Amino acid sequence: MALWFETALLETGWAERIRLTLAGGRIAAVETGVDPAPQDELHFAALPGLPNLHSHAFQRAMAGLTEARGGQGDDFWSWRELMYRFVRRIGPEHCEAIAALAYAEMLESGFTRVGEFHYLHHAPDGSRYADPAEMSGRIAAAAETAGIGLTLLPVFYAHGGFGGQAPGAAQARFVNDVDGFADLVERARAKLPRNGVIGIAPHSLRAVTPEELSALLPIAKGGPVHIHSAEQVKEVEDCVAWSGRRPVRWLLDAAPVDARWTLIHATHVDADEIADIAARGAVAGLCPITEANLGDGLFPAIDYLAANGAFGVGSDSNVRIDAAEELRLLEYGQRLSRRGRNLLASDARPATGARLFAAAVAGGGRSLGVETGLAVGRQADIVSLDRSDPAFGGRSGDALIDSWIFASRRPVDCVWRGGVKQVEGGRHRYRAAIEARYGVALKDLLA
Ligand SMILES: [Zn+2]
Repeated sequence: MALWFETALLETGWAERIRLTLAGGRIAAVETGVDPAPQDELHFAALPGLPNLHSHAFQRAMAGLTEARGGQGDDFWSWRELMYRFVRRIGPEHCEAIAALAYAEMLESGFTRVGEFHYLHHAPDGSRYADPAEMSGRIAAAAETAGIGLTLLPVFYAHGGFGGQAPGAAQARFVNDVDGFADLVERARAKLPRNGVIGIAPHSLRAVTPEELSALLPIAKGGPVHIHSAEQVKEVEDCVAWSGRRPVRWLLDAAPVDARWTLIHATHVDADEIADIAARGAVAGLCPITEANLGDGLFPAIDYLAANGAFGVGSDSNVRIDAAEELRLLEYGQRLSRRGRNLLASDARPATGARLFAAAVAGGGRSLGVETGLAVGRQADIVSLDRSDPAFGGRSGDALIDSWIFASRRPVDCVWRGGVKQVEGGRHRYRAAIEARYGVALKDLLA
C-alpha cells in the first residue's frame, strides 16, 4: 500500500510530492518528487505522529469534575484527594473503557504513541487481582482497541512520603514490594500489543527509597525509566528537608540518569540541574496543560532549550487531550511570564511551533523507547493535516506546523498508526463503539 502527499515533513526535512510505501506496519520506501500511482491514497500534508510521553488514562473520566472550589486553598494536594476518591471506585472494566476513549482521542489529536504511567494495579482494598497484572492487561487491551502505540510504564509505589514513610490507605491500590513488582512487570510484558514497549516508573522520590530505586533498575531490562521528579514546590522543600538536596539534584547525583530516563515534570529546577539534565541526555517530560490545570508552576523552557535539553510532551491528567495545545501552552507560558514572543524558537529553526514539534517528536521517541520520524524502516505513524481548514490556506513548510499549533481549529485529517488508518476526517474509526462503552462505565462509576 502507498500513500501520496503533496508535502511531508520527512526525517531529512520538508519535501514535495511524496510517496510512502508501507509494509508490515513500517515505512518501506520513501520517494520524493513523484506522481501518485493509480492505487495510491492522496493526501495533503504529512507529519510524523507525536509521542505522548506521560498519561494516567483513568483520570480522563474525572476531567471537569475538579474545577469547583472545595474550600480554602485548592491546590495540587487537594486535587489529589479528589483523585484518590475517584480511584477507589475504578474496576478493570471501567479502566479499560476509559483508557480506550482517552487513547482514541489522543490519536484524533495527532498523538500516535502513549507512555502510560500506570499505577492502578490492585483491587480497591489493596488485595491482588487473581492475575496481579490484570489492570496492566486492561491498559494493553485499550491500546489495542484504539490502535495507539503503547509504551507501558508500570509504576513502583511503596511509600507515602520521603524517607520511606508508610503509604496511606488511599494508596493501597498502587503499592508493591520489589519482588512483587518484578513479577508484575514480567506478566505485563507478556500482555503487550504488537510494537509495544515496556519500561518501569519508580513513582517519585516521595514513594520510593534510594535502596528500592537501585533494586528496581534491573527490572527495566534496558527499557525506559520514568519518574515524577519536581512537580510541586512542597515536594522540593520536603526533599531538601529529607536529603539536603533538591529532587532532581538528588537523582542526578545518586542515580545513573542517562538518555534512557525521563524526568516527568522537571518543573522546579535550577540552572545547575538544567545543565546536568541536558548533558546527561535525559528527557524532560513536560505536561503544560496539566501543569497549568494543577497550578504546578512554569518549567524554565527557554534556559533548558538553550542548553540543548531534550524534551517531550505528555497529556498527564488528560483533562484535555490535544497535541497542539500542549506545545502552544509551552510557548505561551513563557510569553506570559517573559513578556516576549517566539521565545522557544531557535536561530536554526525560527518557526516556533515547528521547532517545538520536531523536538517533541525526537525527545518523545527517545523517552518511549522507539525511533520516530518519517524515514525508511520507521513505524508508519503518520498524521495528515486537513486541507479544508482555512488556517492552512497558502501555507507551506514550517508555516503549516505553526498554523496547526497556533491557529487551526480542525487540523488533523487522517492518522495512521503502525500503517493502519485509525482516524479519518478527524474521527477515530471506532469512536462510536468506544464512546458507548465509556458511557456505560461512567454511568456505573458516577452512580
Ligand atoms: Zn503524572
